[in-house]
Amino acid sequence: MGTQLPPRPAASGTPNAVEDDFRDHLPTVDSSGRRRWIYPRRPSGRLHRARLVVSWILLAVLVTGPWIRIGGNPLLLFDIVNRRFSILGQMFWPHDTFIFAVAMLTGFIMIVLFTAVFGRVWCGWLCPQTVLMEMVFRKVEYWIEGDAPKQKRLAAAPWTLEKIGKRVLKYGIFFAISFVVGNLLLAYIIGSERLTEIITDPPSEHLVGFTFMILFTLLFFGIFARFREQACTFVCPYGRFQSVLLDDHSIVVAYDDRRGEPRGRRSRGQQREERIAGGTGDCVDCHLCVEVCPTGIDIRNGTQMECVNCTACIDACDSVMSRVGFPTGLIRYASRAGIDEGEGLTITPRIVAYTAALLVLTTFLGFLVFSRTDVHATFLRNPGTLAQVLPDGQVANFYTVRVMNKTNEPLEVELRLLGQGGQVTLPGGPLTIPGREIVERPAVLTLPAATVRSRENEVAVGIFAGDELIERFDTNFFGPESP
Ligand code: SF4
Ligand code: SF4
Repeated sequence: MGTQLPPRPAASGTPNAVEDDFRDHLPTVDSSGRRRWIYPRRPSGRLHRARLVVSWILLAVLVTGPWIRIGGNPLLLFDIVNRRFSILGQMFWPHDTFIFAVAMLTGFIMIVLFTAVFGRVWCGWLCPQTVLMEMVFRKVEYWIEGDAPKQKRLAAAPWTLEKIGKRVLKYGIFFAISFVVGNLLLAYIIGSERLTEIITDPPSEHLVGFTFMILFTLLFFGIFARFREQACTFVCPYGRFQSVLLDDHSIVVAYDDRRGEPRGRRSRGQQREERIAGGTGDCVDCHLCVEVCPTGIDIRNGTQMECVNCTACIDACDSVMSRVGFPTGLIRYASRAGIDEGEGLTITPRIVAYTAALLVLTTFLGFLVFSRTDVHATFLRNPGTLAQVLPDGQVANFYTVRVMNKTNEPLEVELRLLGQGGQVTLPGGPLTIPGREIVERPAVLTLPAATVRSRENEVAVGIFAGDELIERFDTNFFGPESP
């Protein structure tokens, strides 16, 4: 953060009232309505290095995720077709609706609260779109075509052999990466085993899977080769929510207009004290913060919906400030209120309260997830059936037992009556449920006639795996109709 200066008479919220036309124009569209291609300068600096580290960790998780197993389950799986989901190795089935609802609610509140306090940290540091665009595809582009000025020159140049070669190489690599990303998405949806089958078997045996593989590849190629920042500025709903989620206390990538304005070019050797005495701010109007911006905006116009908080402008401005001998932090993580009151990053009671609320919610969700049982069972009377008196004098009622095995190992269970004579018989022998499957079987509950004293008799049935009681059911055992 920069050192504190005497307050300057800049207007709060609209620092650059003179150049106010940014409000009426998209940075990526020219006056004739055609797309203006963004050529951001290659970012560098301490925050970019930190983002690189985070991105490589995220990419490592993203690439290996479908093959990582926790307790035999995938790290992440979103099998929409078969309604099976795995998060951190915890399998979720259609009946886990309550947990799913709590998870959705927690996720939504987390997004709202987190964004209200910390702005778009997600967009700049964690979103796969930003990570892949800025840390993978853009890096390939810089490697092949050079920094922004060279890219512009190449785009304007005639189609020479060199240009064709560079474009073929770039789009060839883009296509290969898109193929990998498309396959990864497929692996997260159908599981790594089925993806391996699609890759190794002839395409004719997996026409649907093969079609989606091609579609996902083309989709990602289109996004990263052409659509780019428009995914964040036009399509992503999260970006469009910013105007209602952020307030003056939200911490965002912000330009300190009180310190920077009125901006002005710096003559060689000019000292900061001379500028202050002359009424000029610290911004030397070098435009570097605009040139590095991947969405093409000028952060000096204030917080804008297009800003993905990628921090490139912070690094760029810090490098300029260091070069001219001014304090860094003219663009920094700060809230509007913090800038107006001349404060740095402060932990307010609001931040503490929101963070505590998030912790409570995530703890509750964690409790729900980790206290789930590995087996889910139902034991229901067959509709419309009555009691039957068997030839040996016992009375029978008829049920259906349904057991879901959420583990990966086969599970053998048996049903026992709890606390009284009689038995539960499963026609067809012991009940064995293969891993991750559901088995449904008829069950006959018999009691000695002497113990059936009324029309409805309360009984309890337990489902056991070995000696462990997995689930208990209380049911009414019907006695025979009176003659
Ligand atoms: S304004 Fe700065 S933080 Fe926002 S997108 Fe542009 S370069 Fe990134
Ligand atoms: S990089 Fe800093 S000094 Fe240069 S124009 Fe942007 S805010 Fe001003």
